[in-house]
Amino acid sequence: MMAQYLAIKADCQDSLLFYRMGDFYELFFDDAVAASDALDIALTKRGKHAGAEIPMCGVPVHSAESYLNRLIRKGFRVAVCEQTEDPAEAKKRGAKSVVRREVVRLVTPGTLTEDSLLEARQSNYLAAVGRARDEHALAWLDMSTGQFQVMAVAAGELGDRLAALLPGELLAAESMLEDPASTPALEDWRKILTPLPAQDFDSTAGERRLKAAYGIAALDAFGSFGRAEVAAAGALLAYVEATQIGRRPLLQPLRQVAPDSVMAIDAATRRNLELSLTLSGERQGSLLSVIDRTVSSAGARLLAAQLSAPLTDPAAIERRLDMVQYCLDAEALRQELRGLLRRAPDMQRALSRLSLGRGGPRDLAAVRDGLEAAQAVDTLLQQSKLPLPPAGIEAARGRLGGHARLIAVLDSALAEDLPMQSRDGGFIATGFRPELDDLRTLRDQSRRHIAGLEGSYREQAGITALKIRHNNVLGYYIEVSARHADGLLAVPLNATFIHRQTMANAMRFSTVELADLERRIAEAADKALALELAMFEELSQAVLADSAAIAATAEALAALDVAAANAEQAAQHNYCRPQIDDSTGFAISGGRHPVVEAALARQQQPFVANDCALSAEQSVWLLTGPNMAGKSTFLRQNALIAIMAQMGAFVPAATAAIGTVDRLFSRVGAADDLARGRSTFMVEMVETAAILNQAGPRALVILDEIGRGTATYDGLSIAWAALEHLHEVNRCRALFATHYHELTALAGTLDHLHIATMRVKEWQGEVIFLHEVAAGAADRSYGIQVAKLAGLPASVIERAEQVLTALEQNETSGANTAARLADDLPLFAATRPQSHHPATAGNTEVEEALAALAPDEMSPRDALDALYRLKALVNAD
Ligand code: ATP
Repeated sequence: MMAQYLAIKADCQDSLLFYRMGDFYELFFDDAVAASDALDIALTKRGKHAGAEIPMCGVPVHSAESYLNRLIRKGFRVAVCEQTEDPAEAKKRGAKSVVRREVVRLVTPGTLTEDSLLEARQSNYLAAVGRARDEHALAWLDMSTGQFQVMAVAAGELGDRLAALLPGELLAAESMLEDPASTPALEDWRKILTPLPAQDFDSTAGERRLKAAYGIAALDAFGSFGRAEVAAAGALLAYVEATQIGRRPLLQPLRQVAPDSVMAIDAATRRNLELSLTLSGERQGSLLSVIDRTVSSAGARLLAAQLSAPLTDPAAIERRLDMVQYCLDAEALRQELRGLLRRAPDMQRALSRLSLGRGGPRDLAAVRDGLEAAQAVDTLLQQSKLPLPPAGIEAARGRLGGHARLIAVLDSALAEDLPMQSRDGGFIATGFRPELDDLRTLRDQSRRHIAGLEGSYREQAGITALKIRHNNVLGYYIEVSARHADGLLAVPLNATFIHRQTMANAMRFSTVELADLERRIAEAADKALALELAMFEELSQAVLADSAAIAATAEALAALDVAAANAEQAAQHNYCRPQIDDSTGFAISGGRHPVVEAALARQQQPFVANDCALSAEQSVWLLTGPNMAGKSTFLRQNALIAIMAQMGAFVPAATAAIGTVDRLFSRVGAADDLARGRSTFMVEMVETAAILNQAGPRALVILDEIGRGTATYDGLSIAWAALEHLHEVNRCRALFATHYHELTALAGTLDHLHIATMRVKEWQGEVIFLHEVAAGAADRSYGIQVAKLAGLPASVIERAEQVLTALEQNETSGANTAARLADDLPLFAATRPQSHHPATAGNTEVEEALAALAPDEMSPRDALDALYRLKALVNAD
């Protein structure tokens, strides 16, 4: 057995080997050590190899999924090795022969299909980077649904596209990983990278694989692909073949995504805007978490995909908006639709499991229930008395029906309560196959007969305590207590009762009749199980024969869910339908930040809506205003509105007219990227450089505070020059927030610059933030007031005010302020604490009285008296 183990293990060195032995998957050697540590299970030993004991650990087969889950999450890959012949067959080859075993599947993070290993509402992409000369491409497949896409990508944008996909596993050629030019883009993805030999990325082999997978003679049916695209998609298929070992997952037609059909959003912008993850990597608090109102898992996955890739073609966007509008207008229909969708199971994933031979009876039921829901949705849409539905709804509706026959078959075939696995049977309904019913009847009658035998044996033996029992070793047997046993062992009863086993207090017997019944039960049960398993196969095949149509139905349901969800969000939060065209306008009235608005609503605070109008005549807004006034919020909200509009959703505004944005850039906030050896200021400058070098006329740029991480004049100069460059060279739409009020002087020279500010009120020395954007410039930043609000020590605030006044005075007089400040205003005199706490200022008497108290020795009454005394002292003071 060890020889077999080692031979199998030699072929999957990079995976833990789950070696099937009876009801367990066993792990040996280093695998056992690693797994026992990762799973926190006992490490034992078994036999010896080369003189040393062999470490071993194991997990029960029936609960293997949860162990797999933990191992995959910890970054392991697992090779599952099963017994692939009946032990009886092995015995025929000789008493010592080992049962044949084979690896049947490699479990890796990107090839999961089990619900317990996946997040229902998130896609799990397996992605591959292809390269052919200077071309790069990315292919990605969600094996749990069969969605398969490919896109040509500029080398510099690989990281950005990966940030949009967030794949679970990334395949790249070893040769590419060794190439210093490609490594930076892949650096962030090291943890999920699986290197493959370069030949897997050969585009000729890739083309062959693609054709074979789809059974087509030419790829033209799917589009015209570059060599890098074919290389990426082909490598992906090679990996699927290698990990699924002979099993073919369901593949939807390969979809080619044109690079300019989606809004380009670089990784930093995506992160800063917290589209699907917050800066701390959580989903909660992201834009997606706030706007996702879908009620089905497939809908949630589609919405997330749409948010991560907003469109650029106004017609395609309008098509989605029309669907939302339809669902918004038809309130009652929308609610009914959502009710039906909420109950529809995840057909896509059930279908994928069935196609890989990993499905169970519940997956068949999921397909049936999903198709039934689709039928109900179809009827609902047909009966609706609303005006003609838009093309998107019609297209979806057209893909819902046509499954009546399959539904009927599944409905009559499947029992009411279904087991998870098919292996034990019990999932075919009574009445579906007479042959199965007969076998079950035979089995049940024999069981009843056995129950009846108990009474007659009791009578025959004259022992009322006689019992018929069952265990896995003896099968059915008769048990009597030791003191009754003698009667059965003696003539004449010993002719009927055959002794089987003597226990401490009991004796066990059998009879010819009982053995005979037992054999009949076992035979009937075996035959019934074999028949059920064959029927499972038949039903699966019936489903798979329609897989393309079922997948299309599932996709249509997801699209309807997204439209209804976006309508629901729009209705509840008062979003408007954006007008989309191919101008370079951007006019938002009453715009809001969806995430900040939701957060404020939880505290029952209103969000102040603001307008924004960018156009060819006024392409850049320069926004000044105090700290905390809402500049960042305003900047981000406009970026988010552009994204939401172009994903085809309604937007948080009173009106919005947007000329499609082809690229969105944002530079907001910054953190050290120490992992890559970049300081905060360096990160800021790298991001700014990317914007100034790349932003074209259709881009939207959000720049929040550039040049702040360095000395004042350096920063001001960089911000100044960057603003001029944006205005003169990039000529794109831009929002630029700054604390350098000097920049507002540029309004005189830059024609398309609009100066805006966040309004505040000053009242009794305090600032009140109005969160309103108005034309004009701010005169101050009120930084010190904000510092005060944040709780800086009073002495520091006081000193800061003195320094500020001196600096402002000297700015006009031109004196060397810093030197004078250091000399003239004695720092330590000013900062020396005058008081610790206002209530105890100078109150040494109170302090003494307090110090004299011994709380442990005081009665409650004493304590109360003391409290009154202390209070009197303070009041007297
Ligand atoms: P800083 O210059 O310090 O970075 P800022 O001007 O960019 O500040 P924001 O971070 O945008 O200010 O906003 C500060 C806080 O003000 C937000 O967290 C939010 O709670 C509130 N706020 C911002 N805009 C609005 C608004 N339009 N309506 C209501 N509250 C708002």
